[in-house]
Amino acid sequence: MLELADGDRTIAWSECVAAEKPNYSPETIDTARHALRSWLIPAVLERAFEHPSDVHRLLDARVRGHPMAKAALEMGCWELHARIRGEPLAHLLGGTRDRVEVGISLGIEGSPEKLVEKARRARDEGCRKIKIEPGSDYRFVTAVRDDLGPDAPLMADANSAYTLDDTARLERLDELGLLMIEQPLDHRDLLRHARLQERLATPLCLDESVDCVDRAEDMIALKSGRILNIKAGRVGGFTASLAIHDRCREAGVPVWCGGMLESGVGRAYNVALASLDNFRIPGDLSPSRRYWERDIVEPQWTMSSDGLVRVPRRKPGMGVTVDRDRVEDLMVWRDRVGAS
Ligand code: MG
Repeated sequence: MLELADGDRTIAWSECVAAEKPNYSPETIDTARHALRSWLIPAVLERAFEHPSDVHRLLDARVRGHPMAKAALEMGCWELHARIRGEPLAHLLGGTRDRVEVGISLGIEGSPEKLVEKARRARDEGCRKIKIEPGSDYRFVTAVRDDLGPDAPLMADANSAYTLDDTARLERLDELGLLMIEQPLDHRDLLRHARLQERLATPLCLDESVDCVDRAEDMIALKSGRILNIKAGRVGGFTASLAIHDRCREAGVPVWCGGMLESGVGRAYNVALASLDNFRIPGDLSPSRRYWERDIVEPQWTMSSDGLVRVPRRKPGMGVTVDRDRVEDLMVWRDRVGAS
């Protein structure tokens, strides 16, 4: 968590989505802490900014990589700006929706039966995103499809578990009517995804491969996929996310908001982003209770019975308040950078 304060003591909280281990991307909590302390926060503190969209350019010019660390700081600046202006964050970003649709991610299970059980229990969330890998794909997804019926929205996320040698295996999934297959091939690849997309009727969605606006343009030009998962942490923050959103809209490519197991603060940022009009597929925006005994924000995030989360549009900033006692209870370490 980052707590940012401007000169007149306006406070904004933000969240870094890096994990403990470099499984999803090379970043970790420890590399993000190092990058923030050593280079990113000092670079921001020595400058004045007219608008939070100027922060991205500075950070990108000064430091290569570390998008999740940059995003935590850059998005915090957007929140700070929203609070100073007394404007809801969703509004500042250009979001137009009042409510956003929620999907649910289901991990790899030991058997198709177990997966079906999990998928059933997630009945409130409309769209189920099933993790797949070779050996846990066709039979597993078929079992869920048979159980939930032909109209249930289903998607599969492969997290780079396949190669082009598995093309025939992936082609079998075409008959299951999936909304998309996400990132089947290497986490840096665009070209092979384009070859695979030519062979598949199911739209491919990219996640890991698109980490900036240029890569999103490459994906569109190469036809590497027909859908994009935007995770603000992966692309360095809101400014890049908005540019990618706009570019995809122009190209007729729908986007959706992916999650990284955020607390209620990161959730608030995702909900604000997902309120933009080209976020046309349910996002990873599950309510607090799915992941946390007690979230660190008030009110906790909840979902309506038809699988929708309300976008805060009345309060300034992200629309939830950080529960400082809860944060103190969970604190492992704390750093302070800049003037006190
Ligand atoms: Mg993914």
